[in-house]
Amino acid sequence: MTTLHEEQSKAAPGSLAVVQALVNTQYGQGRRAHTELTSPDQLHAWLVEHCLLADGAPVTQGDFRRVLQLREALRSLLRANHETAMLASHIDVFNRLASDAPLTVLLHADGLPTLEPDIAGVDGALAHLVGMVFTSMTDGTWGRLKVCRNERCQKAFYDTSKNRSGAWCSMAGCGSRLKASAYRHRRTAHTEE
Ligand SMILES: [Zn+2]
Repeated sequence: MTTLHEEQSKAAPGSLAVVQALVNTQYGQGRRAHTELTSPDQLHAWLVEHCLLADGAPVTQGDFRRVLQLREALRSLLRANHETAMLASHIDVFNRLASDAPLTVLLHADGLPTLEPDIAGVDGALAHLVGMVFTSMTDGTWGRLKVCRNERCQKAFYDTSKNRSGAWCSMAGCGSRLKASAYRHRRTAHTEE
């Protein structure tokens, strides 16, 4: 039997996994922080590794800033998948970045269409990511990609639970820590009565 922990840690399907990987280049705080992208050079390597950029293409400091802006806008949009309403400012950031990211519809030999970037370089990588987000929003997978409800974590996980009730990146990690702290709060409240 699969445990809830295993279910919640699953990677998102298809190209949505790339969006998930981008969001998860940063999560956690303090000693538990996971940070992958701290320079344009690291971003270059990451984009090439995820087939979003040609090896020789340059990545500027401005490109680096824009990708991190997109990453945090996506994290905010994902938070809305299980708790808060979407903030208009995050929608604006997404739309601003998407407006520089032209996409074109490409019909494949199997008759299925995909959205492909109509521009090279990091603009193309941004377009590709925006296209992946759009595709997953229309195919229904987007709503299952969530950000861990532990404020100090905020890792993106794909919720495969039947009733879409997943709240933490892992039950064994963030889930149990938060449950333990809720228990301590209840006990303290009880003692103070
Ligand atoms: Zn977590």
